[in-house]
Amino acid sequence: MSMISVTEAVARLRASSQVLVDSEAVDLRAAAGRVLASDIVSVINVPPADNSAMDGYALARQDWHGPDQALEISQRITAGTPPLPLTKGTAARIFTGAEIPDGADVVVMQEKCETDGRSVLIEIVREAGGNIRPKGQDIMQGTTVLKAGHRLRAQDLGLIASLGIARIDVRLRLKVAIISTGAELVEPGDEIRPGQIYNSNRYMLEALIEKWGFEVLDFGITVDDPKIISDVMAKASREADAIITTGGVSVGEEDHVKAVVESLGHIDLWRIAIKPGKPFAFGDVMGTPFLGLPGNPASALVTALIVARPFLFDCQGISHPDIVPLRQIALFDIKGGPREVYHRIRSGSEGAEIFGQQSSGALYSTCWGDGMAVQKPFEDIAKGDVIDVIPYVLFN
Ligand code: AMP
Ligand code: MG
Repeated sequence: MSMISVTEAVARLRASSQVLVDSEAVDLRAAAGRVLASDIVSVINVPPADNSAMDGYALARQDWHGPDQALEISQRITAGTPPLPLTKGTAARIFTGAEIPDGADVVVMQEKCETDGRSVLIEIVREAGGNIRPKGQDIMQGTTVLKAGHRLRAQDLGLIASLGIARIDVRLRLKVAIISTGAELVEPGDEIRPGQIYNSNRYMLEALIEKWGFEVLDFGITVDDPKIISDVMAKASREADAIITTGGVSVGEEDHVKAVVESLGHIDLWRIAIKPGKPFAFGDVMGTPFLGLPGNPASALVTALIVARPFLFDCQGISHPDIVPLRQIALFDIKGGPREVYHRIRSGSEGAEIFGQQSSGALYSTCWGDGMAVQKPFEDIAKGDVIDVIPYVLFN
């Protein structure tokens, strides 16, 4: 079995992906992190009318003839109340956000004015339109402001609210089943016996799945027994939109995931040219997509971020650009090899430091720092080189 490149693995997965979830209408306040199922088009102008950007005086520019000429104050316009048309030859007291009266074409900030309460002396009037926020300045009626597939952030919710929209169509959350395989696994908090280790992948993957806005279906630990694995897989395929397992996809005799998935659907075992993370399985369990991540925790994290994430985002209907690494100075030397390496690093003002223990079983390597340096196959990295670095926060 030859190795496939990371790019190739991601491309193959994405080529077979499709949106797996329907949509539902939700209140705006429940929509943070959800994925738009239809475009948001504005049926109004924002702001709806010309309004003042300053506290000051509104007037017609042609009515101002110099700093010594007092203009009568004919009305007082506060935000939230509609103005009257401006009486010719007068000024209107106006406040930030208040509508510009018909007949005015400029606002002068109050710092440039002197008033006795009844009339105002205006030091200088600049060009027409000054200090006026025109109707539609933020959004013009008819504009598509957000597209289907967009994952909603705080500012998007504010924007949708500014359009007067209270309910929106979003995708149902993708249900992702998480199954930890391995007879050696024990949950933290449970009693541990010789030969056993604690299950770390479950907690890590579930947190990722939730952070990405999906719903976790937790299937706990499944021991290395074909019958048990088969029952759990079948149940997961009925309840979930996608299934993720960790462990059991190497070629050891105790790695039963392969045979089980084969009997319930199909499985392709890949050797991805990625380090950590080489063994990876992709297939389906009774029609439900199946991703088999490696058991080693650092490998499980890297393959979840680099390989599984783009596929799951597609299944959720998220439009997502490829992650663009940042540039950083290497503070280490390392020879390239046949695989694409995701070195666990920490970025500082001087550059990127590498963590000393890069074993695929060493999860602390991922917690010590803030991201990964990407080393392409057979490219050496020397101290001082500009390298690609992906901070973990970019996998948001
Ligand atoms: P496997 O792919 O099943 O051969 O597992 C590879 C390595 O990862 C073994 O050392 C396992 O004990 C370890 N491992 C598998 N699953 C987990 C898990 N959920 N948490 C921590 N270590 C694991
Ligand atoms: Mg195992």
